[in-house]
Amino acid sequence: MDSFFPEYQSCRLCPRRCGVDRTAGAAGVCGETAACRVAHLGPHHGEEPPISGTRGSGTVFFCGCSSHCFFCQNIQISAATGAECAEGRVLTPEALFAEVKALADRDVHNLNFVTPDHFWPHIRELCRRLREADVVLPFLWNGSGYHAPELVPQVAEWMDIFLPDFKFAAPELARFCMGDAAYPEVALASLRAMVMARGFLDPCDPEGMHTARRGVLVRHLVLPGQVENSLRVLDLLHRAFGSELPLSVMSQYRPMPACRGRGEFARGVRKDEYARVCERVEALGFQNVFIQELAAETAFLPDFRADQPFAGNRGSD
Ligand code: SF4
Repeated sequence: MDSFFPEYQSCRLCPRRCGVDRTAGAAGVCGETAACRVAHLGPHHGEEPPISGTRGSGTVFFCGCSSHCFFCQNIQISAATGAECAEGRVLTPEALFAEVKALADRDVHNLNFVTPDHFWPHIRELCRRLREADVVLPFLWNGSGYHAPELVPQVAEWMDIFLPDFKFAAPELARFCMGDAAYPEVALASLRAMVMARGFLDPCDPEGMHTARRGVLVRHLVLPGQVENSLRVLDLLHRAFGSELPLSVMSQYRPMPACRGRGEFARGVRKDEYARVCERVEALGFQNVFIQELAAETAFLPDFRADQPFAGNRGSD
């Protein structure tokens, strides 16, 4: 039997606060109705070492997204339409529980809910059932940083680990990329709430021999031609949380089809740009930092139309 979640009736689950009735089949900016769509479930070895460890993180990739950055690296599942989009599968709460429980039984280090905000009522119910079924793995909230701050305390009742992005410190860049100049203040408020609820990532073992049990790790993806934005993000995070804030600097940007005609977003990140960002990380004295190598190829750029979307996971799934 399917469940009914009243939050979907006049949906305000994310900072867009569309107010649409998703139970009646309407979709807001996130592109999703009240039917929970999942694009992929499986162990993932491409997260930071304290998250992926040696056995992988149990990822559950949800379809749709409320941020809608035009450069999205997961565009196949974050956008509802377009030739490049993968459809995902609609799962009832019962089917979702059965599939995630089976994933938990595969000896992964944690359960990692990717782009979760717009399906929070389903995920809350899922977490309740998993704990009832004696699943003791840490639960992980993995999102864009664009979260409704008032939602965070109730999410933190179930989530042990938060893995938010912090994409933009420059309001004008946020408006250009995802249509909301308020991203920086929204992301900062929700990050403060996460840190208050769960503290910093613990343990934060750079080798991944001891995987994290709780806390916050912030990610920042470096964008082509946007070094000043990255420097502002780093300064802002340092001012707000200090040098012990666990931080992951990511180089994996690749231009997507929607980046054509959008200036420097149509190219990759240059070595000199990435080096300037890394220099600022060092100058600010961040102590718990993961820096992704800048490489021409990445094994963790997903193709959700393949059975195993991440080439780097093949052979382990
Ligand atoms: S989750 Fe979707 S429908 Fe709800 S407020 Fe956000 S964008 Fe709108």
